Amino acid sequence: MQIKFNDKVNHIIKKIALKAERFGVKIYFVGGLVRDVLMGKTPLDIDILVEGNAINFVKSLDFVEIKSIHKDFGTVKTEISGVSIDFASTRIEEYPKSGCLPHVTKIGCDIKDDLIRRDFTINAIAARILPSLDYEIIDIFNGCDDISKGVLKVLHKNSYIDDPTRILRGLDFKLRFNFDFFDEDEKLIQEYLKNPDRDGLSTDRVILTLNKLFSSNERAMSAISEFSSCGYYKILFDEFLFNRENFENAIKLFNIKDIGSLCLKYILEPIEILPEFKSRLGIYKYFKNYSDIDLCVHYLKTNDNNTLIYYNELKNVKLYLKGSDLLNLGFNQGKIIGFILDKVLEAKLSKMPDLISFNDEIEFVKRTFKL
Ligand code: ATP
Repeated sequence: MQIKFNDKVNHIIKKIALKAERFGVKIYFVGGLVRDVLMGKTPLDIDILVEGNAINFVKSLDFVEIKSIHKDFGTVKTEISGVSIDFASTRIEEYPKSGCLPHVTKIGCDIKDDLIRRDFTINAIAARILPSLDYEIIDIFNGCDDISKGVLKVLHKNSYIDDPTRILRGLDFKLRFNFDFFDEDEKLIQEYLKNPDRDGLSTDRVILTLNKLFSSNERAMSAISEFSSCGYYKILFDEFLFNRENFENAIKLFNIKDIGSLCLKYILEPIEILPEFKSRLGIYKYFKNYSDIDLCVHYLKTNDNNTLIYYNELKNVKLYLKGSDLLNLGFNQGKIIGFILDKVLEAKLSKMPDLISFNDEIEFVKRTFKL
């Protein structure tokens, strides 16, 4: 396999590979980088897997600036001549409970044992880095074949039980590359969803995976539709209400551009119980810290018209007057200041036509309240 890095990166990789050869250490590219290269894409991040202990290996390289070390995982972040390169040790992981973060049981294992902890066959291909800058493919799970067929296949039948977020990672790859889950995987997923085990589910991993799934605005709508229609929501909840038409309609009503963030919030935020609003001022005060996405999520979850009233009629109303202006007018410090400010705001919210500028507000105070 050939990888089209620029000359500078090629030079750095060659230097690392020569050192590795001298120390008798095998180093590899693996995961997304190899998959992307095999799919004809240019790799963005450079991660090197060391068969053995990456920390010891990196410490032996005299041309590397170490940025950080994560001892428990055997990983090192570095910078080499201005290029960021992450090194990881081969490792064996175990899942004591479904969905929890895995325990690392060995750092510095055989490459094959490292590959088997990975999610899909397409992400479990390694490319050994040689000083000649030839890359020797190690493909024990036939990932290359699955890339050419466009299928997503896990490496063993307990994989989705070990880590159900792989279902969501799979959905991401499916939509990004226009791939399909392998038939057997569809069955394994549906089997898992019949009886999902959420007790040990790592919230951090769920959020990380959802963030990735909804990082693209173009794919977000398909992602949330499949999240709902294929029952993937059961990884997280028993129920999930989603209606694509309502969703698209709300996106227009609130002029939402960041559809990925909207979907993410819609999935993660609980339904809010609202107070009963007695006035436009009450609506204004309640929603005033809401972003447009928050308003849209709230509207979708509750169908509450007050969110639309706020968005269309109240959101841009601003009070120029401050408490200090009222003190300057001669009012005394105390509750009266807040009371007057609320009254001016209330008048503005009810669209009084002659209340636009700071001076209008001052005039309004002078004619409405006696000093
Ligand atoms: P991209 O960055 O393009 O989304 P990637 O595959 O590089 O794709 P990462 O999340 O950076 O995505 O993961 C790197 C590699 O780590 C994957 O290719 C896979 O081999 C492994 N991996 C990541 N998440 C998991 C997981 N939940 N279970 C098993 N292996 C995983």
